[in-house]
Amino acid sequence: MNNARSHDLFSRAQALMPGGVNSPVRAFKSVGGEPFFVQRADGPHLFDVDGNRYIDYVGSWGPMIVGHNHPQVLDAVIETSRNGLSFGTPNPLEVTMAETIARLIPSCEMVRMVNSGTEATLSAIRLARGATGRNRIVKFEGCYHGHGDSFLVKAGSGALTFGVPTSPGVPKALADLTLTLTYNDFDGATKLFEECGSDIAGLIVEPVVGNANCLPPREGYLQHLRDLCTQHGALLIFDEVMTGFRVALGGAQARYGVAPDLSTFGKVIGGGMPVGAYGGRRELMQQIAPSGPIYQAGTLSGNPVAMAAGLTMLELVQAPGFYEALEAKTNALCDGLEAAARDAGVAFTTQRVGGMFGMFFTDQIVDTFAQAMACDSAAFNRFFHAMLERGVYLAPSAYEAGFMSSAHDDAAIAATVQAAREAFASL
Ligand code: PMP
Repeated sequence: MNNARSHDLFSRAQALMPGGVNSPVRAFKSVGGEPFFVQRADGPHLFDVDGNRYIDYVGSWGPMIVGHNHPQVLDAVIETSRNGLSFGTPNPLEVTMAETIARLIPSCEMVRMVNSGTEATLSAIRLARGATGRNRIVKFEGCYHGHGDSFLVKAGSGALTFGVPTSPGVPKALADLTLTLTYNDFDGATKLFEECGSDIAGLIVEPVVGNANCLPPREGYLQHLRDLCTQHGALLIFDEVMTGFRVALGGAQARYGVAPDLSTFGKVIGGGMPVGAYGGRRELMQQIAPSGPIYQAGTLSGNPVAMAAGLTMLELVQAPGFYEALEAKTNALCDGLEAAARDAGVAFTTQRVGGMFGMFFTDQIVDTFAQAMACDSAAFNRFFHAMLERGVYLAPSAYEAGFMSSAHDDAAIAATVQAAREAFASL
């Protein structure tokens, strides 16, 4: 595979951009090697600057659920752009977007548009703190909620100790306010709320964890978190930046039948444009400025071109049978990968939920963060490169979920499984 142009671009990028990238995981640090630079994308494929084609299971980290360069999304963006790129005034598409989200996600009685998932989660915890008058928040080890200070925190030596910053620049005083739990541990959550439930403003969780590979909730786990929050007067926040419009039309909250107080969105909702949103119960959302005192704002929030892309995406995913077909594709891929691994004698398993999936180099069923971390990441890294050489792009980390799109047809999935047969054999 010729990578001369990508290599040259990466050298230039490294001279001027930290790590040569604008977002860390793109740099291939975890899998080794150098990233490729993409010229264009279409349907299930990426095409790099050296003319190589890849079947893409990253999908811009989630947004491209109908495939790249979808003609209707593209048309909406072009048409809307003709009227101007940004007005800084209310525009009609924002209203349609709010109506669409409120209809598709009933727990979101009101919504506020922002420009990224990070902004959505930052705003949601400010609201939780402002509305409850409490300062502590609870998150789960292995869940990622963007790069806000309160989220860049890991557990101290025990579950009930203060959180520890995972990045320089996060004040210890702020990290102290973040408590950390183990996902899918029922008793740990009960114990934490018994000890300090009355101090907790909100608990934020990826209802299906997509940032520690792919971990579905154990039966009843999300309801358990719902019950604890209700009992202790804390707000339950589902971070559906990844799962929203991905694991079901109504997100994980529809799939598992548990309604949070607040939800955050990103990725699919923007159709590939920089968009996030948060929403929830009316009496909570009304506390946001200007109807209430809790401040949050954005120069480009509700941008008309971004709204046009997102609204078109949300129309496309409402097509009858869209999620059933997407899930069938995910299952076909994961079943094919598991069979290929079995035939090659490689310990390997998958998890799938709707249009997202995880790959684990282990012979165990994996549904906790500790189990995900215990998998053979060196085997994953070799597999990643063996697949890349064969024209298949997986997330460049053993700890990221994969994403299916409706543009991945039978041929693309069959070609992926065939590449996997060769890749597993080469391990
Ligand atoms: N929450 C979750 C669950 C995410 O997966 C991400 C991004 N991967 C974020 C929040 C942050 O979103 P963004 O990168 O748009 O800031």
